[in-house]
This record gives sequence, structure tokens and C-alpha cells, in this order.
Amino acid sequence: MSIQPELQESCPPDHFVVQVFSEMGETTIQRRWREINTILRLSMLSGLPMQLETALNMLCDFAMEIAPYDKAALYFWEDSAEQVSLRVSRGEVLVDGVLQHGNIFHFWVSKFGRPMLIARGANVQADALLNAMEAASALVVPLLVSNRTMGSMQLFSGSREGFRAEDAQLLWSLALVAESLLTREQANEGLLTFAFTDYLTGLKTRGYFEQQLELEIKRCERKKTSLALIMIDIDFFKPFNDNYGHHVGDQILRDVAALLTKDMREVDTVARYGGEEFVIILPETNSSGALHVAERLRHSVEQAKFFVGGPGTVEHLTISLGTAIYSTDARFKRELIQAADAALYAAKSRGRNQVVVHSDLSLEQRQKAV
Ligand code: GH3
Ligand code: MG
Ligand code: MG
Repeated sequence: MSIQPELQESCPPDHFVVQVFSEMGETTIQRRWREINTILRLSMLSGLPMQLETALNMLCDFAMEIAPYDKAALYFWEDSAEQVSLRVSRGEVLVDGVLQHGNIFHFWVSKFGRPMLIARGANVQADALLNAMEAASALVVPLLVSNRTMGSMQLFSGSREGFRAEDAQLLWSLALVAESLLTREQANEGLLTFAFTDYLTGLKTRGYFEQQLELEIKRCERKKTSLALIMIDIDFFKPFNDNYGHHVGDQILRDVAALLTKDMREVDTVARYGGEEFVIILPETNSSGALHVAERLRHSVEQAKFFVGGPGTVEHLTISLGTAIYSTDARFKRELIQAADAALYAAKSRGRNQVVVHSDLSLEQRQKAV
């Protein structure tokens, strides 16, 4: 490809760097006190143990409160892949194979270690990325781990004046507050992946589920949204084990786990709750959405053929499911788990192989599982 003349005249990337300070000026503090409170909220949450992915998602949410954006892409170092990867995105972010591991903004911000404000029409390479994102401007902030740039938070706006230098200063402060959290969770990532993965099914463990549900509920409180919890139990699994042996039972648990994760969104959490019980967290999902997903899962297990032992020996299985919604069915984590469990209990007593939603239960049935 030949170099176009405008490429040489194009504004060099260091012109996009915003000068930032470790302290904020008085006028900024007076004018942007709400956003400063958001930064303080993050500092209070940063003591909580959480998955790196959760921390990155939270940063994206907080950034939205500080500098509203149309789209966001968050790149961060991935130890297991030994490279940077796109970890979190908001809005429609199309990334091809190359962009999966960083783009030109990530490269620049890693080089300068400071936030950058980029508007369309100044640099050919920047324009190409802005066009691909259908954006007119971007604010890019480095994410630091032990004082080194390990990621970039890239916010995009459809307007040329989508962001101001003051936004860059505020997000820089947000990134500095997040540094200790990211440093800790980055170190834990490999370790936690191991601890939070169920050895038999490869699903998330109950410990991970408990932690994730707590964080998702906090997120719902902040964003005033709902989430759905689905509890699942395999019907008459004991006779299966008794007939075919435990190792066949284990294989079936793996098969069921694979059916449960199929077609799930990246934000959903599918975990093994205990023996042959599973739980699913569906963020930003209401009762009808949860019923739809639960019915799809029930149907896919019912249709599946499970191979047990010799060639051609197939068996069929069914599952029972209970769903409950935060915050209409329950306001607290424990209460929400009990609500989904009560619905599951009702599905069992109504004959199994069915979905029961908690809001359909009678008062007596609601108290059964407690
Ligand atoms: P239902 O739920 O429909 O009431 O009947 P069930 O037979 O599935 O219920 P129950 O809770 O009595 O039995 C659960 C069985 O799941 C007991 C055990 O044999 C089996 N199970 C639990 N964990 C494992 C596991 O890790 N591996 C294997 N192979 N089986 C397991
Ligand atoms: Mg059971
Ligand atoms: Mg069972």
C-alpha cells in the first residue's frame, strides 16, 4: 500500500496526549463533585476481592458515570495468552482477529502512559479506527499495574466534542485509584481461574457463583436493573449412577454442563452449585427473559442423547428448573437463592421436567424451601 500524502501531514500521536495531574484543581472539584464521588466509590470497593474481569467491567460502568460514551473497548494483558486481549466492550464493537489483541490507540497509550483525546480529522490511523467504531472522537486512558501500562480503556463518542480534557483528568484519577485493585487481581488471575473452576465440569464453582451474585446484585442496585437466577437439578439422577456407575454419571454431568453453557452470553455465569445441581446468573434479565432461557435449556436437555457405556446405548434425561428475579422476588442474595430454590422444589413436586417461576408460587410454596 502506498503512503498517502496526508499521512505525512497527519498530526503526530503525541499531540493527543492530555496533560494530567495527581491532584485536581479547585474548579474541577467544584464543578465535577458527582464524578469525584464516583471515584471515591471505586476506592471504597477496591478492597473487595473480585475477579479481574469483574473489576474491568466495573471500571467501564464507572467511566460511563464520569464521561458518558457511546461505545467502549477495554484491552488488558492476559497472562495465560501472554498478550493483550479485548476483555470488556460496550455497544457494538466489531473486532476482527487482529484487533482482538490491541489497536493503534492501545499502542499509543502504552507508549505515552497518559490519557489521550483524539478527534476525527487529525490523523489518518486514528481516523481509520474511529471510522471502524463509527465514532467521531475517543478518550483513551492507560490502565496501570505496578506503574506499568497493562491495558487501555477506550471510550468512543459519536460527537467530535464527545470528551473534554477535564474528563481525561477525572478518568486518569479513576485509573490511579483502580491501580491497586488491578495489580492485586492481575496477580490472582491465574490462581483464581484454577480455584474457581469446577474440576469435573469446567463450570464456575459455587464459591465463584456466591461472589459473583453479590457483585451483580450491587451492580443492579447502582444501575436500577434486574437480574435473573435459575436453579437447575437433574431429574432422577441417582438411578443413573446406580445403573451405569459413577464414571458414566460424571460424563453425563459434563455433557449437561456443556448443554447449559451453549448459547449463553458472555456476561452470564453458569456454575455447579453441588452434586447434580447448577445455577445460572443472567444479568439485566427480567422474568419473561429468564423463562425463555430456562425453557430453551429444558428443551435442549430433553432432546439430547446421552451415551452410556456400549456403542449405541443412549439414554435420555430431563431437568427441573426454578427461576427468581432480583429485585421483584427478593432483595438480598440469600433470599434470592432461596426463592429460586423454592421454585425448583415446586417444579420437582409438580412432576419434574418443567420450569417454575417464583412469582407463580403460592405463599405456602414460597416458604417450603426456606
Ligand atoms: P430428583 O432430583 O429428581 O428428586 O432425583 P435425584 O435422583 O436426581 O435426586 P437425589 O438428590 O436423591 O440424587 C442426586 C444424585 O446425584 C446422588 C448421586 O448419586 C448423584 N451425584 C451427585 N454428585 C455426583 C457426582 O459428582 N458424580 C456423579 N457421578 N454423581 C453424582
Ligand atoms: Mg439434587
Ligand atoms: Mg436430582
